[in-house]
Amino acid sequence: MTFATLGLIEPLQRALETLGYQTPTPVQAQAIPAVLAGCDLMAAAQTGTGKTAAFAVPLLQLLTMEGPKVAANSARALILCPTRELAEQVHASVAEYAQHLPLTTYAVYGGVSINPQMMKLRKGVDVLVATPGRLIDLFRQNALKLNQLQTLVLDEADRMLDLGFSEELANIYRMLPKKRQTLLFSATFSDEIRTLAGQMLNDPLSIEVSPRNVAANTVKQWVVPVDKKRKPELFVHLMRKGRWKQVLVFAKTRNGVDALVDKLQGLGINADGIHGDKPQATRQRALDRFKSSDVQILVATDVAARGLDIEDLPLVVNFDLPIVAEDYIHRIGRTGRAGNTGEAISLVCADEVNMLSAIEMLTRQTLTRHMEQDFEPEHRVPDTDASGQVVKKPKKPKKPKASGGGGKRNLGKWVDSGEVAPAEPSIKPVRKVPVFNTGPRKKK
Ligand code: AMP
Repeated sequence: MTFATLGLIEPLQRALETLGYQTPTPVQAQAIPAVLAGCDLMAAAQTGTGKTAAFAVPLLQLLTMEGPKVAANSARALILCPTRELAEQVHASVAEYAQHLPLTTYAVYGGVSINPQMMKLRKGVDVLVATPGRLIDLFRQNALKLNQLQTLVLDEADRMLDLGFSEELANIYRMLPKKRQTLLFSATFSDEIRTLAGQMLNDPLSIEVSPRNVAANTVKQWVVPVDKKRKPELFVHLMRKGRWKQVLVFAKTRNGVDALVDKLQGLGINADGIHGDKPQATRQRALDRFKSSDVQILVATDVAARGLDIEDLPLVVNFDLPIVAEDYIHRIGRTGRAGNTGEAISLVCADEVNMLSAIEMLTRQTLTRHMEQDFEPEHRVPDTDASGQVVKKPKKPKKPKASGGGGKRNLGKWVDSGEVAPAEPSIKPVRKVPVFNTGPRKKK
């Protein structure tokens, strides 16, 4: 199969050829004809499978072939992304795909001055990539009208809801024309998101190119059990032992990112960090320096690292496991992209066993454990498997207090020696999915 057989016009074929895209990826092969046919789409695809081109390329073709010229302060297509970095990245790809087309493209996001964005929108843009908050600001300040909108794309839709954008999305929906094409893309789909998508989309075509919630099989994944306090030391040890050159490291919190970066820099290691508290320009600079290999270790929180496309990234390290199991798939999806191989190592302490169990259940695999010599944990990480069971060692049975004597009677259950203690509840729900309040379903 070629891009020509999917019905793409010559200027798009030429752009893809320049980028070295020879054959469509599975998600592209399914999505491109469906989008060209005008269908609403709900697509679940693994990260790094080429989903940006899957929505952007046919969208650009439709804008070229159909619809009026863009009016002042208007957009004909809107691509919503959860983070600024992803908006920049998606826009860069869209601009490359559109290089031989008579279309304009632009990205708007928060954290930078709104005035240049307002100026730029004056003439209107064919494709606008935006984060939800800034889009609403621009709309409210009359810098943007959406009545000419033909197509809406929600990229990483589940993540937008996870990040608490449900209210913004509900507001944006109210601004949109009823007659439009809507494409919902995401690497992972929880059942809640599927239900909600069913309300937002009009008779959508569902595309699922890989089993649900399965990480790219080109990524070799393993776990190193360790005590929490020894994680920094283990990281440095593994880094030196493995002669790691370019590593993206995920930590749970902003403080965690800063602490690890300080520790590494203190050891003379070339490290930088990105998280939501840092100004946009600083984040972008750190990312650019990491991409060009001027920075060896980039430590990030999930928010900052979402959707980043780093060419040939060999290794992702989970310094902390993510609180939401789906984020594990997103994290390790930064490596092993576009058919390359990659490695993902998770440093796991006893506190994180429920998260490990949730990840194994979600990805339907038991992660291989490697015990690192001299780092064997004092607090054992209980065994886990893909069934979601956390196997705790039976506790020593307590001896029953002698009854009688007028004291408080122990009415609790106790176990004889040899009888296994009752199983712990398996995994706890790790996070509630925020409720998406779109109000009553509107008829399109
Ligand atoms: P994405 O999933 O959109 O972030 O894409 C992941 C990577 O795959 C990006 O570096 C794309 O440039 C690349 N890519 C997308 N489609 C193709 C294709 N058909 N052939 C080769 N590389 C591709």
